[in-house]
Amino acid sequence: MTETTILSSAARTPSREEIEQAFREAYEIGRAATITGKVADYIPELAKANPRAFGIAMLDGEGNRLAFGDTDTRFSIQSVCKVIILAVSLKTKGFRETFSHVMMEPSGDAFNSILKLDTRSNLPFNPLINAGAIQLVSTLADEFSFEDLMGFARELCMDEGICLDQAVYHSEFESGNRNRAIAYLLKSKGVLQGDPEKTVDLYFKLCSLSVTARSLASLGLVISNDGVNPLTGEHLIDPEHVRTIKSLMFTCGLYDFSGRFGVMVGVPGKSGVGGGLMCAARGPMGIGLYGPALDEFGNSVAGVKAMEHLSRRLNLHVFDY
Ligand code: GLU
Repeated sequence: MTETTILSSAARTPSREEIEQAFREAYEIGRAATITGKVADYIPELAKANPRAFGIAMLDGEGNRLAFGDTDTRFSIQSVCKVIILAVSLKTKGFRETFSHVMMEPSGDAFNSILKLDTRSNLPFNPLINAGAIQLVSTLADEFSFEDLMGFARELCMDEGICLDQAVYHSEFESGNRNRAIAYLLKSKGVLQGDPEKTVDLYFKLCSLSVTARSLASLGLVISNDGVNPLTGEHLIDPEHVRTIKSLMFTCGLYDFSGRFGVMVGVPGKSGVGGGLMCAARGPMGIGLYGPALDEFGNSVAGVKAMEHLSRRLNLHVFDY
């Protein structure tokens, strides 16, 4: 038995006290880990984040909440928006059409890699890397305005305070030539629809939505609850689509660390270079983490450490029986 295992694998339901204690410990472990990471600086505005910041929020299906640390700090959603883009695509285009634009394979490359797109395949490997999200945005750009998509993000995150972080958006716009290169490469292959500039502009705006750890916990809860907001009963995502979203989060949600996160944590998650990590755990339970100090793959070091602890302590791994 490892030091952090308290529950037997014959999964009994942890008590409220055990859950709270596990989150408290995870917060301490995560906070201590912040010194091992570095904030993203390839988008200059992100470099202004406090590398020692860390917050962890939980929301369960009965409306119970836990929050430790910096859970009200606003930061840009970055790649976590790719889950929302995928949800919108599945909802409006359906499964078949969505996956005629993008594959569902882990890429094994960095989030912004252009390599395999040029050499191995015309279609982006999956919707949770830049190329895949940019491709899906191109198919949605005629039908949806930024405001429409922000409205959906607000609903899913149960957060009316979500807005465009203008400073991050301008910084992304200025420094986003790699994403433009991806869009133009997709266009040259006849894959990207519409105008590459209009597409990346909408993509930059979606990455610049400002959220909190609490908003990500709410998003995680909706996903873990088969697409229904359990607090209002609203059906926001079709359960069949949630199954697809969770599968891709599990296999592709943490860049080229997804395999290790799958083994060590075993919870569908999606990270962003702004320091956000959104997890959809069993229960249903949504967990939102914010820690802008990142590891070499672009994941929050504190977020990953905290999730490793929570998974062990609360038997959250999907293969814990
Ligand atoms: N806006 C970022 C980019 O396109 C998102 C990357 C991320 O969070 O993985 O580079």
